[in-house]
Amino acid sequence: MDTLLEATAINTGYGQLQVLWDNEIIVGKSERVVLLGANGAGKTTLLKAIMGLIPLWSGSIVFDGDHLEKKRTDERFQSGVSYMSEMGVIAGLTVEENLLIGGYYLNKQAQKQQLEKMYEQFPDLKQKRKNAGGSLSGGQRKMLGVAKALMSQPKLLVMDEPSAGLSPLFVKEVIDFLIKSTEESNLSLLIAEQNVKFLEIADRVYVLDGGRITFSGTVLELVANDAVKRAYFGLEGS
Ligand code: ATP
Repeated sequence: MDTLLEATAINTGYGQLQVLWDNEIIVGKSERVVLLGANGAGKTTLLKAIMGLIPLWSGSIVFDGDHLEKKRTDERFQSGVSYMSEMGVIAGLTVEENLLIGGYYLNKQAQKQQLEKMYEQFPDLKQKRKNAGGSLSGGQRKMLGVAKALMSQPKLLVMDEPSAGLSPLFVKEVIDFLIKSTEESNLSLLIAEQNVKFLEIADRVYVLDGGRITFSGTVLELVANDAVKRAYFGLEGS
C-alpha cells in the first residue's frame, strides 16, 4: 500500500485537558478508512488536529511526503487534504456560493470546470444552485457538503460524521455516492463515524476509545475481535 497520510504519536487536547494519547493513523492512496468511536471518544479532535484547526502538543503528520504539522489549515487544503465538518454547509449562502468557497484556491477556469463537474454528479444541486444552503433537505445539504469539499480536487477527503442528522435512507445515499466518487477517481477517504453502517465502505478501520486507538485492521478483523465487539458494539464474543 502506498501511504498518503501518516499521523504518528499524536497528543493533543484543550487547555490542560489531554484528549488524544499517542494516536497513530495511516491512510493509503485510494484507501477508505473509517475512524469508529462513540460520542466524546475524540474523533473530531483527531480530525481537527490533522487539519491544523487545533494545535498538536506533539506528534507528526506527513501527507504525500510533506510534513504538515507547521502548516496552516489553508496550506493543508492546498496540499490536497479537504475537510467536511459536521456542519459542512453555510446555510445563508446559495448552493453555488458554497461550492465556490470550496474551490476558493483554484484558478477561475479550474473553478468553473469543477463546478460543472459537481453539477453533473449532483443534478439536484444544479437545479437548486440559486437556493440557500439552509433551505435544502438534510440529505441534499450533506451532498452539498461533500460536493463543496470535492471542489478543491483533493487527494484525501476527511469527513466528520457524515451520517449526523440523516435518516437511514439518506445515509445509504451518501454511502453510495462516496463509493461512486472514490471508484471514479483516486480519492482517499478518512471518515469519523459512530454509525457502523459506514463500515460497508471501509478498507480499514481504526477504533478510538477514550482518546486512544484501541484497534486497527480490516472490517473482517474487527468483526472477529471479541474485545472490540464487547466494548464497542455491546455484543458478546462467540
Ligand atoms: P462526538 O461524536 O460527540 O463529536 P468525538 O468522538 O468527536 O465525539 P470530540 O468532540 O473530539 O469527540 O471530544 C473529545 C473530548 O474532548 C470530549 O471529552 C469533549 O468534551 C472534549 N472537547 C471537545 N471539544 C472541546 C473544547 N473545545 N474544549 C474543551 N474540551 C473539548
